Amino acid sequence: MEYDLPIRDEWPQYVSATIAQIDMPRPFHIAELPVTSVPNLVDGIWMVDHKIDRHNNLSTYSNIRHWWRIPRRIGVARLFVGTNNNPRITNDGYIVAPVSVKETQLKLELPEDAVVFRTILHAQDWFPPDDLRSQFSVAPVFQYSRFSNEGRYLDGTLRLFGDLQSAYQVVECRFWRNIFYELGALSRGNERTAVEEVVSRIRPRLGEFDAQSAIDWQRLGKAVLVEAGRVRLPSFQISFPDLKRKWEVERDEAMRGFSYDEKQGALHLQIAEESFETSVRSLCAHSILTQGHQWTCRRCAHKNWNSIDDISHTLKCEVCRVEFQIDPDFRWDFHLNEFLARGIREHGHLALVWAIGALLRDTRDSFLFSPPLALYLANQEKARPESGAELDILCVRDGRLAIGEVKSSERDFTKKTVSSAH
Ligand SMILES: [Zn+2]
Repeated sequence: MEYDLPIRDEWPQYVSATIAQIDMPRPFHIAELPVTSVPNLVDGIWMVDHKIDRHNNLSTYSNIRHWWRIPRRIGVARLFVGTNNNPRITNDGYIVAPVSVKETQLKLELPEDAVVFRTILHAQDWFPPDDLRSQFSVAPVFQYSRFSNEGRYLDGTLRLFGDLQSAYQVVECRFWRNIFYELGALSRGNERTAVEEVVSRIRPRLGEFDAQSAIDWQRLGKAVLVEAGRVRLPSFQISFPDLKRKWEVERDEAMRGFSYDEKQGALHLQIAEESFETSVRSLCAHSILTQGHQWTCRRCAHKNWNSIDDISHTLKCEVCRVEFQIDPDFRWDFHLNEFLARGIREHGHLALVWAIGALLRDTRDSFLFSPPLALYLANQEKARPESGAELDILCVRDGRLAIGEVKSSERDFTKKTVSSAH
């Protein structure tokens, strides 16, 4: 944590804890005059601006530090300087707190990001009765919140990647995004084929269909249940040669339009290839891609999967237990981490990583965010209370609060979702 005063005097202080007593600077005339000489001049209260290092620093650049810049909510400022204090927040989101001659130290406490968001969403501003602002303080609409399903998935995903920036760098790359969609869910083309196949199977089973009839809907449900299982879906894995081929297409497209001489071109190719292999290695190291080998048993036709850890000279079928010598044209296959794949399939949450990552990228020097939250009106007795609203994006960027809704495709923004967002 560093303390400095950018306005006139800088008064940096370094502490390593999130709770600390900080010496406050004194105005020149107080600092320079001995108390005994002119007592009434050496008194008073003054305001000190605080520029505080973020302890949960999300800065993506090593040479840019992130500072605490908060929305103009007194409750949030009081988290730092205490409830009894009467802080202000500057237009830029820096905290300003009063100091007096008698109390030249300030107890500063740095809150966790989740506490800041809880205060913004659920705390009512408190003022003494003689403060006019007390008349305008209103109770918050939502009493409490917790991670929504999307929030839990995002939290897990970010842990998998390490942090938001690492996740964003992968998702931002068109090549990896497409591979993840391919391995995690049905691609648009595959989806269309699969839907057509299901429809063509269901139609003859149903015959006449009456959308008003409950019985017909029951019949439809049963038919979908049976037929959907029979539709052949593409297998969600990719071999290393296929992965590389797709990457080469992407690379060639990226390099088109640039003219290189032979030497330069070769160098670029080499760098690109190294970076591709580094990416694959890093994704495997983070367990985002699972490396292994898929093969079909020649005796019982079972499709086996062996992870890299249990591959040796022979491969054993997990059904008929017969062992086979490893093929001379052995190739590695890759699966997408199942947790991530489900997140993509059911929640489309690559879009969420992308959106929050882009907000961080365009941030100047202060960023904090919360995984998506479900908001609840009151502490409900029920074990599974219904949430009153959900927030996909909740962040503070350069001192400004931003909330938003994220969809995988602009087609998913219906009039209803837009009006509910308002
Ligand atoms: Zn077998």
